[in-house]
Amino acid sequence: MSTPAHIPSEPAPSGSRSVTDRLVEANSRYAESFHDPGMDARPVLHVAVVACMDARLDLHAALGLELGDCHTIRNAGGVVTDDVIRSLTISQRALGTRSVMLVHHTNCGLESLTEDFRHDLEDEVGQRPPWAVEAFRDVDQDVRQSMQRVRTSPFLLHTDDVRGFVFDVTTGLLREIAPSN
Ligand SMILES: [Zn+2]
Repeated sequence: MSTPAHIPSEPAPSGSRSVTDRLVEANSRYAESFHDPGMDARPVLHVAVVACMDARLDLHAALGLELGDCHTIRNAGGVVTDDVIRSLTISQRALGTRSVMLVHHTNCGLESLTEDFRHDLEDEVGQRPPWAVEAFRDVDQDVRQSMQRVRTSPFLLHTDDVRGFVFDVTTGLLREIAPSN
């Protein structure tokens, strides 16, 4: 995710298309030249990539991935939540992936949040969200914790090839993080 809650979007001029309309129109153009690649749902490279949802991270371009190569599982922070474990479990047990790559990044929006976000939410809406914000201060440590969660999951078939990285949003380079054993 991107750094702090920022810049209120400009109100759309009346009569103009919404952003979703633009995306749907782009899809019509995409489909015009699209040919069914006849692919299997099983990722060609047998890898699942778990990454932050940050808009500056173009996973396919950054990792040289092609259509059909991998599963991509993204959320705020690239955090290994129960739901990410759910997707990884299906990825491995039903769709044949064996490797897991974790990609967090510099300048992540979660570095500027704290668990106060949750308490403020509770104050505002009268209900405490059941999920943790998973804010962090040290991105390296956050990657190590994520690797640990994958490696210790009882549901996964393959936990021997789990590697974690920090993507630098200013250079486009990955930096590998050593696991905590
Ligand atoms: Zn992020």
